[in-house]
Amino acid sequence: MIPTQIRDQVSDKCTEGLVLALACDDDGAIMELKWCNKAFTKITGYAQAEVIGQRGTILIGHEMEQGKHLHIIEKLMNWEQFTVKVQNNGKDGGLYWQQMTWVPLSNADNGSRWWLCSIVRLMDEPRAVPSQDPTKVKAPSIELIQELNQQIQSLEKENTQLHALARSATRESNEDALTGLSNRRHFEVEFRSWVAAMKDGGPSFAVIYIDVDRFKTVNDTLGHDAGDSLLNSVAETLRDLTDETDLVARIGGDEFVILKPLGDSALNISGLADEIVQRTQIPFGFEDKTVTVSASVGVAITDAKMDNPEQVVADADTALYHAKTHGKGRWSFFTEEMHANLIATKRLSSDLLLACERGEFVPFFQPVIDVATGKISSAEVLVRWAHPVRGLLAPVEFLDAAADIGVLRRIDEIVFSKLCDALADLDQSGFSIPSVAVNTSAERLTDSLLIHDIQRSGIDPGRLTIEILESVFIERMTDAFRWTLDQLDELGVTIAIDDFGTGHASIQGLLQIKPSILKIDRQFVQPAVEDKTSEALVGSIISIGTSLGMRIVAEGIETEEHALVLNAMGCDYLQGYHFGKPMRAEELCVLLKENKGQFWKPQKPESLAYTRT
Ligand code: C2E
Ligand code: MG
Ligand code: MG
Repeated sequence: MIPTQIRDQVSDKCTEGLVLALACDDDGAIMELKWCNKAFTKITGYAQAEVIGQRGTILIGHEMEQGKHLHIIEKLMNWEQFTVKVQNNGKDGGLYWQQMTWVPLSNADNGSRWWLCSIVRLMDEPRAVPSQDPTKVKAPSIELIQELNQQIQSLEKENTQLHALARSATRESNEDALTGLSNRRHFEVEFRSWVAAMKDGGPSFAVIYIDVDRFKTVNDTLGHDAGDSLLNSVAETLRDLTDETDLVARIGGDEFVILKPLGDSALNISGLADEIVQRTQIPFGFEDKTVTVSASVGVAITDAKMDNPEQVVADADTALYHAKTHGKGRWSFFTEEMHANLIATKRLSSDLLLACERGEFVPFFQPVIDVATGKISSAEVLVRWAHPVRGLLAPVEFLDAAADIGVLRRIDEIVFSKLCDALADLDQSGFSIPSVAVNTSAERLTDSLLIHDIQRSGIDPGRLTIEILESVFIERMTDAFRWTLDQLDELGVTIAIDDFGTGHASIQGLLQIKPSILKIDRQFVQPAVEDKTSEALVGSIISIGTSLGMRIVAEGIETEEHALVLNAMGCDYLQGYHFGKPMRAEELCVLLKENKGQFWKPQKPESLAYTRT
C-alpha cells in the first residue's frame, strides 16, 4: 500500500497530467475515468469532479483528425503501450497540443483492466506550419472540398473495417480453435464477471465440470483425429443441452465447464448433469472402429453468501474427482465431506513422500506353515508404515495413495533393503526361516533395479519368493515384465501368484509365468468351510494348480477348522492369524525360539474328520 500522504503529493506535485481510466475487457475501450491529478486539471481546465465518471472523449478531443483517432483506437484494442501527439480541446474549447503516453495496467485480483494516460502539454505544434497572412487565405475550392469529403468517406470505411477486424480478433482470442466453444481465457474473464454480478445481487449459479473418461485411450488407440472428433461431438452435445444464457467452455484437453444460472429448483442443474452423463455414454465410431466412451461430471453451486465464491470451480473439480474415483460415467455433487477427504488425501500424499525420504516403512513377517510338518516353511513380508503421528499403519491405509502418486516402487525398495538386515538378524538368532516371500508391485517388477537389488542383497535367491498379484500379471505382460521374470527364473527365485481367484487369469497366462506357487485369496478360503460353492471353487483352484505342478498356499486361516478343511482339500501350505499375525522380525525371533518353528500339529489325511452341515 502506498501511504496516502505520498499518493497525495504525487497527485499534487507531478508536473505531467495523469489520468486513470477503467477499460473495457473486450476491446480495451475507455469505460470511465476514475482519477486524475492536479496537473491534468491545469492542462485541461476541468476540475477533478468534472473529470471523474467521464468517458475518453475528454482526453482526445472532439475535433481530432480521423487518422489519429483510428491509430488510437487500434492501439487501445491491441492493449499495447503507445505515445501519440495530438490536439485536444480544453474546457474553454480552445485547442492545444499534447503528447500522451498510454500504459495498459491490469488488476490480477478481479481481472479488471485499466489505462494510465500521462499528458505533457506541448508549447508548439509538433510540425512547423508555415504562417499565413489571414487576409491572404483563400476560400477552399469546390475541388478541395470534394477531395476532403472523399478522404473522410474512405477513412470512415477504414474505421468500419477496423472495428469489424477488432471484433473478430476478440472473438478468436476468446474461442477454442477446435470446438468453437469459449476457451480458458474467456472462461476465466466470464467467471469473474459472473461472480461480480452475483455479488451485486445477480443470480447464483452452478459450475458443471466435465471430463471425458479414458480420453487418452481413444487418442492412443484410434489416433488424434479420432480424439479431436470425439471432443467436437462432446462440445456439440453440451451446446445442445445448454441455453443461450449459459457459458460453455473447453478449458483443457478433454475438460469442459458450463456456467449455468440457478433456476427456481435445483432440478434444472441435476437434470443437466444427468443428461450430459447419458448423452456422452455412447459408442463412438471413427472410421471403421468403435469404442465406448463416457464422461464424468462434477457439480458445485455458488452463492453470494459464501466467504469465497471463487472457490466454486475448485469445488466442482473436487466433485468431478469423486465421480471419477467412484466408477466414472456418473456425476457427483460437491459436499464438504469431499473437501475434507481431498485434504486428507493430499496430506496423506505429502506424508508419503516424506516417509519415502525418511524410510519410514518396516517389514513385518507372517509365518507360512508346511502342512506336512506343521513347521514354518517361510514368512510373508508385509509392509507397515511407522507413521510418526498416527502410529503403525497397515497397507490398506496407504498403498492406493502410494500407487496414485507413483511411490509404490520406492516403498518396495525400502522394504526389501530392510528385509535384508532383518533376515540376517533372524539367521543369527539360532533359528533361521527357510525362505521369505516378498510382495512386489507392478512398478517394481518392470524395473531392472529389482534384479540388481536381489543380486546385491546377499540373500540366497533360492530362499526368496516373489509374490505377484494375479491382477498385475494379467494387465502387465510387457517386455520389461517378461525380462524380469526370465532373470528371476535364471537366478533361481521362486514365483508365487498372489490372491489367485480374484482376477481372470487364463491357463495360458499361468503357463507363461510358470509360477511355482499359487496363493488362494482368503475371501475364498474362509467361506469354503461353510459354503459348498466356495468349497467347489477352492477345490477347482487346487486341482488346476496341482495339475500344472504348482504348490498351493491357503491364506486367511483363522481357525483350526479352516486349517483342517484346507489341509484335507490338498493345500501344501497354510497362512493366517491361527498361526500368527504379521509381526516384527524381533517378535518372530522370540516366537521361533519358543516353539522351535513348530506352529501346528499336522494331521494325517486319514485321521481328518470334519463334518459339514
Ligand atoms: P496379501 O499379499 O494377500 O497379504 C495377505 C494379507 O492378509 C495381509 O494383509 C495379512 O495381514 C492378511 N492376513 C493374513 N492372514 C489373515 C487372516 O487370518 N485373517 C485376516 N483377516 N487377514 C489375514 P496386509 O498386511 O494388510 O496386506 C494387505 C495387502 O497389501 C497384501 O495382501 C499385499 O497385496 C499388499 N502388500 C503388503 N505388503 C506389501 C509390500 O511390501 N509391497 C507391496 N507392493 N504390497 C504389499
Ligand atoms: Mg502377498
Ligand atoms: Mg494374498
